[in-house]
Amino acid sequence: MRNRFGFFALVAIWAALLGFRTAAQEPALAFVHVNLIDATGSPVQADMTVVVQGIEILQIGKSKDVAVPKSAKVVEGRGKYLIPGLWDMHAHEIFGAWLPEDEKVIPLLFVANGVTGVRDMGGDLEPLKRWRSRIAAGEMIGPRMIIAGPMLDGPVPAFPSSAPIRDAVDGRNTVDELKKNGADFIKIQSLVPRDGYFAAADEARKIGIVFAGHVPDKVRAVEASNAGQKSVEHLTGVFEGCSSVEDELMSKPRGPGRGRFLATYDPERAKALIALFAKNQTWQVPTLYWEQGEWLIEKTNSGPDPLAKYAPVVWKDKIWPMFTHDIMQSWSTDPLSDRENFVRAEFKMVGEMNRAGVPILAGTDTAAGVRVYPGFSLHEDLGLLVRAGLTPMEALQAATRNA
Ligand SMILES: [Zn+2]
Repeated sequence: MRNRFGFFALVAIWAALLGFRTAAQEPALAFVHVNLIDATGSPVQADMTVVVQGIEILQIGKSKDVAVPKSAKVVEGRGKYLIPGLWDMHAHEIFGAWLPEDEKVIPLLFVANGVTGVRDMGGDLEPLKRWRSRIAAGEMIGPRMIIAGPMLDGPVPAFPSSAPIRDAVDGRNTVDELKKNGADFIKIQSLVPRDGYFAAADEARKIGIVFAGHVPDKVRAVEASNAGQKSVEHLTGVFEGCSSVEDELMSKPRGPGRGRFLATYDPERAKALIALFAKNQTWQVPTLYWEQGEWLIEKTNSGPDPLAKYAPVVWKDKIWPMFTHDIMQSWSTDPLSDRENFVRAEFKMVGEMNRAGVPILAGTDTAAGVRVYPGFSLHEDLGLLVRAGLTPMEALQAATRNA
């Protein structure tokens, strides 16, 4: 990560270019003498030249073998690194009154950080659809978007941009409606009731749309994996599933009590759950940067914030204080030492999952979360995946070709 700023810059230029589809009119752009990491798993290739035009790579090879077109704009890459565009696989961009539509903030911060794709895990469907198509048409700068629209939640949803699910009929109808209205996948939240969840899962399978998200409070991780849930966010349901008192934990509302999760952790149950995820290829998006930040929010939300200039006033003055208050009242009421141990256990879990062949994706939950800045946070997440035990190449792949 020593050359991080150089690598940011190059990714950003390429990313900005990807935003446009006017390939024919645009001059080519040549990155010369750059260290290339293609994220296929091959080692760094030194002194490479890559020529791109619009969204196409025209040439790629050793600098001595590539003839740079005369008309190309040349970017000196000596001492820097070029990587594929990154994906943030857990983002929120337009989310009711919490994140009002503003195309001058979130999409630009993603692109400036080399994040050229996002999986939007819940938000306002109509404006998100407009962004999705304007970005795809080159009319707006932003990452490519895969969107869920409203999140399926309980009868009284916990968040904006949600679809209330009371029962199985709601589960089926909502899945049908979202697919018809242009959602790319279905997002599941924590309060969906059991019958609503299994009906939604069944309907999604029937009509061919992916469902992903939280393991709901009333569903076991084993059940979600077997029902075909494509990804599990924030390790929801995982520590319950590894506990020797899962039944007791399932019968209570979630939130505090992380100390009990750890005190009743059963390595044999953990091994079985991890093996099931690997067998079913249930992707994990542990959102480690978010987890660390929100579980330890009194630490995260104090001290100087070097990125503060990128945050709109409404985030700093209204949204973040609101999140902080909510979090301190609901989840983060355990003693700090319990929460620190829990975050450590999450890192260990991600490492174990990775070694056992459970597929892992990078994701941040930006722009929800205090000081979880779009784009910047994805780079933090990659660093934390490495701390959890992924190799640097595995971490890159969690945000590129695996995404
Ligand atoms: Zn989220």
